[in-house]
Amino acid sequence: MTNTYLENTTELLNEAQQSILFTTIRPNIVMDYGKGMYLWDTDKKKYLDFIGGWAVTCLGHCPDAIRLALAHQTTQLINASPSFLNTPMINFAKLLIEHSCFDRVFFTNSGAEANEGAIKLARKHGTIKLNGACEIITAVNSFHGRTLATMSATGKEKWQALFEPKVGGFNHVPLNDIDAIKTALSPNTCAIMLEPIQGEGGVIESKETYIKALRQLCDETGILLIFDEVQTGIGRTGKLFAYEHYGIEPDIITLAKGIGGGFPLSALLTKEKFNIFEAGDQGGTYSGQPLAMAVGYAVVNEVIKNNLAANAAKQGTYLCNKLRDISAKFNLANIRGKGLLVAFDLPTSNGSKIVAECLNEGLIINSPRPSIIRLMPPLIVTSEDIDTMIEILAKVLTKLT
Ligand SMILES: *Cc1c(COP(=O)(O)O)cnc(C)c1O
Repeated sequence: MTNTYLENTTELLNEAQQSILFTTIRPNIVMDYGKGMYLWDTDKKKYLDFIGGWAVTCLGHCPDAIRLALAHQTTQLINASPSFLNTPMINFAKLLIEHSCFDRVFFTNSGAEANEGAIKLARKHGTIKLNGACEIITAVNSFHGRTLATMSATGKEKWQALFEPKVGGFNHVPLNDIDAIKTALSPNTCAIMLEPIQGEGGVIESKETYIKALRQLCDETGILLIFDEVQTGIGRTGKLFAYEHYGIEPDIITLAKGIGGGFPLSALLTKEKFNIFEAGDQGGTYSGQPLAMAVGYAVVNEVIKNNLAANAAKQGTYLCNKLRDISAKFNLANIRGKGLLVAFDLPTSNGSKIVAECLNEGLIINSPRPSIIRLMPPLIVTSEDIDTMIEILAKVLTKLT
């Protein structure tokens, strides 16, 4: 029997119905091509992309930097095994260290996996320095991933009954409430882990006074301050890392999404004093995988070289101003965010309807909660792209509100 490789939209959608395990509802289109700020489906319809692969494709779609790095690395070395160092791995770690407050890097493949690494490192620290303390305080409304431990760390109401029993040792407290942290703190606490800006939770910012108080509390008690920067890292918020906004240094940060520009890659960064794993404690078949390392190096180098964090800050301000211009007309409230991680509240809970209609009109946006719209375009976005986005959004809001 010969295999046929499907390219026709109807055949592809029929096959998807039969062969893809159902996990989520997706629109009846098949993405086929991407360039810069745009995606095209198999019917050649064009979409302006304001979710950027879920805050992932920071350099836009199919950028030369990734294409060339992959092309070169595939001629050099694709996989050497996790038991060997490789050239791009060392260079990438050096680049991350030179541009952050950290000294040590551990590489993995996804945000959840980087967070698992952070949880293990915090528990190791608890074992060595805090009489076996193993509990981690996290925030209500947070998101840390979909492995069992990171689901347990996540403060999402809807997930509480899912896939029981959860991994123990997580204690959820409301964000920006220092007294709640002090109440939750016990001799069994080894770390506080939070997103400096909650992304999936609807772009909710931690206050600077709160973060500074947490830093002080961690210094006094010896527990670790972990920032999950999976969504906020690599220029997204207008600085290379979001912790830079707060005038403090976390003990650990985790990075994913933007760090690979679309290639599956994540990292855990920490200080020399937490370089405490023993041989065999932590690892992974693809930790430091050469293709991922070459891509990560190229992406982060491009973000730094072209100062895309500054573009994120500038275009983020422009985007928020444009949203404010139309906010009275459509009753949009709480326009918020930092850099190119932006959200606003709708007057009604019809977020998914608005997302669907925008898609119909050739614009991709996201509704993380029924009454919230979130925008996280590639860091290369221009004012012209934002004008086009606002035009389509206003057209859709006129129709649906
Ligand atoms: C997306 C996200 C994760 C999970 O990353 P995956 O790559 O999907 O495992 C974890 N934390 C935050 C803050 C995220 O936004």
